[in-house]
Amino acid sequence: MPNLNDICLVFDLDDTLYKEIDYVRSGIAAVLAQLDRLGFSAKSARVLSEQELRSGRAIDVLIAKLNVPPTMHESLIWVYRLHHPNIGLDDTAKEILHWAESFCAGLAIITDGRSFTQRQKLHALGLGHIPAFISAEVGVTKPDQRAFLAVQKLWPSKVYVYVADNPAKDFIAPRDLGWPSFGILDDGRNSHAQNLKIAPAQPTKWLHSLAELPDALNSL
Ligand SMILES: [Mg+2]
Repeated sequence: MPNLNDICLVFDLDDTLYKEIDYVRSGIAAVLAQLDRLGFSAKSARVLSEQELRSGRAIDVLIAKLNVPPTMHESLIWVYRLHHPNIGLDDTAKEILHWAESFCAGLAIITDGRSFTQRQKLHALGLGHIPAFISAEVGVTKPDQRAFLAVQKLWPSKVYVYVADNPAKDFIAPRDLGWPSFGILDDGRNSHAQNLKIAPAQPTKWLHSLAELPDALNSL
C-alpha cells in the first residue's frame, strides 16, 4: 500500500462529489424565476415530475407548458447554464475532502463540461480553491488522457487515484495510465443511469459511498 502522503487523490465532480440532479433542480428553479419576472405565470409549472426533471428536456417541457415562444429556448438554456447554483456537499463528501486535504500529497478535480458552468458549481460547493481540470479549458473530454497528464505534471512522481461514477468514460484513461480508480455506485439519485455491464473499463473497485474511500486506499 502506498503512503497516503504519496497519493494524489483526483475526483470527478457531477454525481461523484454531489448529485447532479440537485444542479438540475436549481437550474430549473432559476429558469422559472426568470420566466415569472418576464410575465409568464410560471408558478403553475413549479412542479415538474421527477421523470421530466431527469429527461434532459426539462426546459422544453416548461416552454410547452407555459406557452413560451420557442425562440426563447436558447436564452433560457443560457439562464440555466449561467445561474448561481443552489447546491451543497453532503457531510460525507465534506469529511472525505477535508481528510484528503490533510493527508494526501495532492487533491484535484477532473470534470467534463463548460468552464463557466463547472466553475460556478465548484464555487457553490466551496471547492473553488482545488485545482480543477475542466474539459472546456483542457480542450478535450474524457476519456482523453490530457487532463490526467496535467495532474501528473502538477504533482510529479506520485501515486494517482481517480474517483468517479461514469462507467462509459471515466475509468479508461486511469486504466491506460496505470492509475488505480474507484467508482461510486449510484444510490438511486444519479441523473444518468449507470450501466456497469457495458463499461469499456472498470474501476479498480466499486464503492457504495465516498465514506469507503480511506479503507479502499488502504487496500491498494
Ligand atoms: Mg460524473
